[in-house]
Amino acid sequence: MRIGSIIDISLVDVPGIPVTVVFTAGCNFDCSYCQNAQIIPRSSGTDMPIQAIVKKTQGSLSSGCCITGGEPTIHRDLPQLLKQLRQKDDYHLNLNTQGSMPEVLKNCLPYLDSVWFDIKADPIRYREVVRTPNDPWPKVRESIDLVMSSDAAFWPRTTYAGNLLSNRDIRAILELLEKVGYQGEYVMQKYVASAGTRKAEAARLRVPTREEIESLARDTPPGIKMRLELF
Ligand code: SF4
Repeated sequence: MRIGSIIDISLVDVPGIPVTVVFTAGCNFDCSYCQNAQIIPRSSGTDMPIQAIVKKTQGSLSSGCCITGGEPTIHRDLPQLLKQLRQKDDYHLNLNTQGSMPEVLKNCLPYLDSVWFDIKADPIRYREVVRTPNDPWPKVRESIDLVMSSDAAFWPRTTYAGNLLSNRDIRAILELLEKVGYQGEYVMQKYVASAGTRKAEAARLRVPTREEIESLARDTPPGIKMRLELF
């Protein structure tokens, strides 16, 4: 599996649980706001055997592991990695995904405790926002259903860049969450450029104002609470 990097311990990737973070390399989307753009190419990162990844996660003081990227599910051996990481019941296994590979995700779910699920835009604008040759929405929708019907916790979230999304996208996503019967928190992350954001893209994107983000949280459907990440 191609790996971008492995961080021994993080206190921010899974709420309340210190986790080791594995960044897989390669992604089949091309979001303009990507904060890890250097690992979008499938040829990025370095090849690591599953045993070596597992070994690297052992011995740290973490209580779990978060697999992120890139898009982890483009790696067909991801379920094997998760199976090997699933050593003890009190070890939290979390996956970050954008859901474009339900055929791989379905085989990961039996090993997972939670899934951060990035919902990118109004379904009708998906292809435009993630810049793929074909519309990925039908597969993303299938993945949402898979996680919702699994034992893993579904943690939906969206990154909001001011001139990429609008209130209309967020209303469409909230409608979808309501339709699939989701109840719980929906995380809204304010876009900010980081060292990993492509400079040319960052120049085109607008950091939304606090008021703009706060206005998105008005009138959420009953049972859905929007949590704003404004840093
Ligand atoms: S899905 Fe994630 S890793 Fe892939 S391009 Fe978009 S933000 Fe970057």
